[in-house]
Amino acid sequence: MVGKRVLLHICCAPCATVGIETLKNELCEIEGYFFNPNIYPKEEYQKRLQSTEKLSKMLDIGLITDEYNPEEWKKAVKGMEKEKEGGRRCTQCFRFRLEAAAQKAKEKNIPNFTTTLTLSPYKNEKLINSIGQEIGERRNINFIKYDFKENGGFQKSITLSKQYDIYRQSYCGCEFGKLV
Ligand code: SF4
Repeated sequence: MVGKRVLLHICCAPCATVGIETLKNELCEIEGYFFNPNIYPKEEYQKRLQSTEKLSKMLDIGLITDEYNPEEWKKAVKGMEKEKEGGRRCTQCFRFRLEAAAQKAKEKNIPNFTTTLTLSPYKNEKLINSIGQEIGERRNINFIKYDFKENGGFQKSITLSKQYDIYRQSYCGCEFGKLV
């Protein structure tokens, strides 16, 4: 029996390892969505995209990608460039990506969406989940709350990334985060 259809916003392959496993255990039909115009530079974006493609093939899930458009993202965080990681720029960055994920799920007639962003120990899962829920309510689509880092999820993602031989980056993603 196949469970609910879920669009899973994927920020990067290592963070997706645990999210995909969790959703599969819940018998969900997963469509991955790699939407991360925050990533800088383009070479890094390509690296993270390629490792997500590799993981999706290995774990047999669908994967949707869009054009890389960092200018659009930069406009969304304008004036917040100097914020520290975890501050207002990151809140806006989460919102930007989750709005796109909700939009894509609607376009594809997928009734549920969620994100791999909560895996990172540097990211506030309550904030991410509250943004997702607010967007879901406004756009009339179900956001599923998770905290993928709980129960040793982050450690597990490191083990799985090694096992699948996928690239693990050393910084969050944007050029401004690299500066702080
Ligand atoms: S540090 Fe990470 S979450 Fe924050 S704005 Fe940059 S890419 Fe987005």
